[in-house]
Amino acid sequence: MKQILILLIVFFVVFSCDNNQNHHSEGGISSKNNSKKQESFGIVIHGGAGTILKKNMTDSLETAYLEKLEEAIKIGHTILSKGGTSLKAVTATINIMEDSPLFNAGKGAVFTHEETNELDASIMDGATLNAGAVSGVKHIKNPIDLALSVMNDSPHVMLSGEGAEEFAREQGFKMTDPSYFYTEKRMQSLQKIKEIELRRHYKSLSFEDPFIKDSKFGTVGCVALDKNGNLAAGTSTGGMTNKRWNRIGDAPIIGAGTYANNATCAVSSTGWGEFFIRAMVAHDISAMMEYKGISLQEAATIVIQEKVPDLGGDGGIVAIDKDGNIAMEFNTAGMYRAHMNAQGALVVKIYKNE
Ligand code: ASP
Repeated sequence: MKQILILLIVFFVVFSCDNNQNHHSEGGISSKNNSKKQESFGIVIHGGAGTILKKNMTDSLETAYLEKLEEAIKIGHTILSKGGTSLKAVTATINIMEDSPLFNAGKGAVFTHEETNELDASIMDGATLNAGAVSGVKHIKNPIDLALSVMNDSPHVMLSGEGAEEFAREQGFKMTDPSYFYTEKRMQSLQKIKEIELRRHYKSLSFEDPFIKDSKFGTVGCVALDKNGNLAAGTSTGGMTNKRWNRIGDAPIIGAGTYANNATCAVSSTGWGEFFIRAMVAHDISAMMEYKGISLQEAATIVIQEKVPDLGGDGGIVAIDKDGNIAMEFNTAGMYRAHMNAQGALVVKIYKNE
């Protein structure tokens, strides 16, 4: 009897140790889950969608775009791989593209009809659904940083024009002379469009008209999932060439140009802003995932290949979901784009069917 009792005690001790171990390995599993989560971090960027054709591209320009996209995404990826937040990765990555004259954001922004540069940007935190945006700023070198400051340091979501710049000054932002944004290429595009405009009334121009199609190139955007499972999205642009009347596109509009929600995905848009506003592109992709239970890719395809073109618009998005799945969907000839996963695998592309 005593022996049986001893055996039973031994059995219980062994069992409970094993159980503890299991618990540990469940901890292991849950930390494995965390590390699985960690393994699924990722980042996706775009540098604008449009009539981007290989036949119109020189080798050196193509290389310049590919190298800049790679440089930008690697900055964000390094932040994420070191455990930095998706918000940090998004802003730092966008800063690189804002500082490059290749893109229609920051330096290299397109010109308004009045030959000024009016910059728009927005950012969203998928963990809190906090967001910040600025539109029509003229003296801010990196508008995405100001959008972040609006989110973090003001009680508002969106500030515009002089008020946004007054806020920027109060926050210690340096005012940049507008001449910084000047690039010969963008000025020439404006003059070309103005010449066409002299001959034809703006309203008579159709969607297929190169005047419209080519007047908006190179908005930049970034979406990221960090090691803590937090999503963020950001977008920065100079808008459309020859824009007037303080026109504002989709880029600074939360839900149209930018959206992030940890429950679904993070999206940054680029394209013909008027249509992206009407289709509420970024939020619609998230909403379809949430309400219909469809995948990120399915939702992105429906919005970009059906809903936006049905309205008459064109453009694309980059997106990443809470599990690290990505989408880079566009209905134009090309979209400057790149993505990197947790393993550091890098993909950089420009044209369709690459
Ligand atoms: N969506 C931007 C706008 O309409 C332009 C672009 O992405 O190319 O302002």
